[in-house]
Amino acid sequence: MTSLPIIQSAATAGRRPAMPPRHLADLDVSGREDALVALGEPRFRARQLSTHYFGRLVRDPDAMTDLPAATRAKIADDLLPRLLTPVREMATDDGATRKALWRLHDGSLVESVLMGYPDRVTVCISSQAGCGMACPFCATGQAGLTRNLSTAEIVDQAVYLAGVAASGAIAGSPSRLSHIVFMGMGEPLANYNRVLAAVRRLTSPAPEGLGLSQRHITISTVGLVPAMRKLADEDLQVTLALSLHAPDDDLRDELVPVNQRWKVAEVLDAAWHYADRTGRRVSVEYAMIKDVNDQPWRADLLGRLLAGRLAHVNLIPLNPTPGSKWDASAKPVEREFVRRLRAAGVSTTVRDTRGREIDGACGQLAASEVPT
Ligand code: SAH
Repeated sequence: MTSLPIIQSAATAGRRPAMPPRHLADLDVSGREDALVALGEPRFRARQLSTHYFGRLVRDPDAMTDLPAATRAKIADDLLPRLLTPVREMATDDGATRKALWRLHDGSLVESVLMGYPDRVTVCISSQAGCGMACPFCATGQAGLTRNLSTAEIVDQAVYLAGVAASGAIAGSPSRLSHIVFMGMGEPLANYNRVLAAVRRLTSPAPEGLGLSQRHITISTVGLVPAMRKLADEDLQVTLALSLHAPDDDLRDELVPVNQRWKVAEVLDAAWHYADRTGRRVSVEYAMIKDVNDQPWRADLLGRLLAGRLAHVNLIPLNPTPGSKWDASAKPVEREFVRRLRAAGVSTTVRDTRGREIDGACGQLAASEVPT
């Protein structure tokens, strides 16, 4: 077995990465009040500004007519700096799936995906520019980590796309953003504090935050065990998704290199700890890769590991990525895998893959400025 790099952190990459300017969404309510007082404004302006940004999804200072005209621009410059510059938006599924490519203040590129369904609107957001986890079947993992996103860079992806949904852009879907999945670029638990602050902003009621239900937020991880255990103790009701992809250490060491540090048994223990503490069912993600992890014996082994646990398996047909030698499993093989898991008493579904045509599906986000 080859030894693959485990974690490439920004700190070991040499130069200290340039974080963006501070933004309203980085601050809690009292931090916002302090910032306005520092600008010579009354504290109550914090609530006015927050109502525009989080409550009405308005970011243009000219539209903030309840702020004095003379200080609007100064307030917006200080607290609503532009963090995400749209570079390109691509749509598919008759407009129900939209991928947004953003340029950050330092030139880094990240992507987010908006998905409309009849009963809900989901945004898939990025937590890092690039990713250091090096999973060989994932396009994001191939380029390595550039840097962590700030709390506001994470939140602003959701607020911006909530505005797109609110404009009625997705026909046949509700206009209100309801669900967020941390399944875009990056490993959310490797940027723990900022991701947690972002979750608090996204779930605090308006005008403090976006007012989403904690249960409608999913954090997906490769399995950083100490961070999973810490998350379990945060007293949150968010859904944890674990990217397992193999039930045995031999194969998982290769598919998810962080497994060389935390083995399948440890990562599942941490998942069950999360389920115990929160009462939430853990979602186990498993990309179906032809002749790699889709054998009947692996389905049976996975079934034995998960039977009787508060878990749900999401099989993801492997999405194509540039230069990958792997293919998705054949449909009959996938069906047999599902059958064996269900026979073991494990609730299992196959994920409806959105956005393949625009490289917006799981594992395809690679933030290239040139359309591929
Ligand atoms: N780093 C976190 C968050 C990214 S979520 C994590 O890995 O969980 C993206 C999900 O898509 C993960 O479950 C990932 O393993 C999966 N994925 C990556 N590449 C894929 C591909 N080519 N096809 C299908 N799923 C893929």
